[in-house]
Amino acid sequence: MCPADEHLQGNHSEDAPVPAPAAASHQGGSNKASRQHKRGRGGGGAGNGQGRSQNSQPAPSSAPPASESFHPLTSEEFVDTHTHLHWAVERIPQYKHLSPTEAINRLRHEHFPKNFHACVNVLCDVLSFTSLTNEWQSLVDSCDFMYIAAGLHPHYADQYSETVSHDLQTISTHPRFIALGEIGLDYNRNLSPPEVQKSVFTSQLLLALSLSKPIILHTRDAESDTLQILTSILPPTTTIHVHCFTGTAGFVKSMLDYFPNSYFGFTGVITYESVAELQGVVRDVVPLDKILLETDSPYMPPLVVVEGQAKGKKGKFSQCGDIPVVARKIAELKGVDVDVVMRAARENTRRVYGI
Ligand SMILES: [Zn+2]
Repeated sequence: MCPADEHLQGNHSEDAPVPAPAAASHQGGSNKASRQHKRGRGGGGAGNGQGRSQNSQPAPSSAPPASESFHPLTSEEFVDTHTHLHWAVERIPQYKHLSPTEAINRLRHEHFPKNFHACVNVLCDVLSFTSLTNEWQSLVDSCDFMYIAAGLHPHYADQYSETVSHDLQTISTHPRFIALGEIGLDYNRNLSPPEVQKSVFTSQLLLALSLSKPIILHTRDAESDTLQILTSILPPTTTIHVHCFTGTAGFVKSMLDYFPNSYFGFTGVITYESVAELQGVVRDVVPLDKILLETDSPYMPPLVVVEGQAKGKKGKFSQCGDIPVVARKIAELKGVDVDVVMRAARENTRRVYGI
């Protein structure tokens, strides 16, 4: 998922009550704004974990931080298998004076429950993994709960270059690099021309093969071409995480036929009233031993969070602490206890990522 896909949320992105600057900066067609926003942050001396502010300690509060108690829905340990926390913290005005690493650690302390174990932070635009700043390295080195994945999102396929390929290979040498992605095809917005998307997708699949790492797949309105390219390049034993799955039952079946090590990630989207067909696919087609839980933070907040926004409450973005809410919806659809979903997803995460 990513930037331009917030239209999937219960509210269309233009109407969604998310903070204007960050929300606008990640909308489709505004890559430039996003880059400028990120440059502005780094240029202020806060990047790379440097320049700790006097005000970087959490504000005193009478309520205990989330990190000291289990989530009210479940005490089962969980991993958020797909986040963009470096973008999530840009949405929190109170964290503006903090470096990205300080902000992410504070987010964890204030919003992630005690049963949060780890997350896969996904770098998917050129600035996130550029060797010019190596900001990704401070992120992962300063957050011991964070694993990283990297790959150029199809929205930005027209920015692929030798330098990008080299940067991806550099990141892949980090001990906590665990997957290549999110990569794939997105014909919903066609922010890069489809032919360019296909070419870049192919190049990155070949890179993933050479690294022997799992693939994080993004596909939107492009199931046929996605399958054609995947099956022409990858061996059937490849492990594939189809991230923020919103596709068809037919695609699930085809993927499991060709690639038995396919897994399907579900986000807060599954809680929206507008996705009855997807909910049917979760209920009837995707087995529990093929489900991964993810937030795609800061995107795709669960309905309960969106409703909280409408009432002016906190929660203007999704974050790792929302995982049990996603699990609860899957449990409701499948008619099982939430802990059954949590345990299955935890085991699937070990199988896919080894964490
Ligand atoms: Zn994403």
